[in-house]
Amino acid sequence: MTAISASKPIAVLGGTFDPVHAGHLRTALALQQQAGFSRVHLVPCADPYHKARTCAAADLRLRMLQVAVAAEPCLLADPRDIIRGGATYTVDTLRSLRQEIPQGVHISWVIGDDAAREMHHWHDWQGIFALANVLVVARPGVPAPDLQHWPATWCADQQDYLASPCGLARRVELTQLDISSTEIRQLIAAGHSARYLTPDGVLDIIAEHHLYERSST
Ligand code: ATP
Ligand code: MG
Repeated sequence: MTAISASKPIAVLGGTFDPVHAGHLRTALALQQQAGFSRVHLVPCADPYHKARTCAAADLRLRMLQVAVAAEPCLLADPRDIIRGGATYTVDTLRSLRQEIPQGVHISWVIGDDAAREMHHWHDWQGIFALANVLVVARPGVPAPDLQHWPATWCADQQDYLASPCGLARRVELTQLDISSTEIRQLIAAGHSARYLTPDGVLDIIAEHHLYERSST
């Protein structure tokens, strides 16, 4: 087993994960395999104030994520937002991580193009850059957003980027899988199979708990 160093760059992918899918998972794995991160925390939100509602309860969204990453030691299903409860604010998530990770160590908050476009509406969003860097990942079917107003220094080189503990931003193209949780929920609500879009263990939990069988998106 590879030892995971506490001083190497860390990536954090937050989301609703309702349910987690291959787009999230391949992105997370590519961060470790290709982009220089030692580990990737996948952090399901407790109570997404910016989304109308989630379809599956927080404990089930977390369980699906745990099953999905069980075979990959570099991917962590991180329950901190669900344990904290209430409205999830990314700045609180990063503050909590910073209490465990030395100040000089690089943290990247990872965000897809679609969510990046909305980030300036988030609670204390500018505080995010004082705690971490922000890595925008291209998402197929979503035009690249204009993020020049962000209070960050845009970094052209991945090694320079990884050397900084916080305050930088960068946009990269990793995996390009046009998969969304919405699509999976819609397939299941229509009585179709979502196989191969998410791991079989996730599909087992969906079936066991009759998740997404009624359309709500
Ligand atoms: P929903 O359809 O319910 O919004 P989703 O597929 O967008 O679900 P989220 O949990 O909302 O998944 O996304 C969490 C994070 O992962 C966001 O930053 C989002 O942009 C990113 N993301 C989701 N799917 C992909 C994908 N296929 N490729 C790259 N990034 C993705
Ligand atoms: Mg989404």
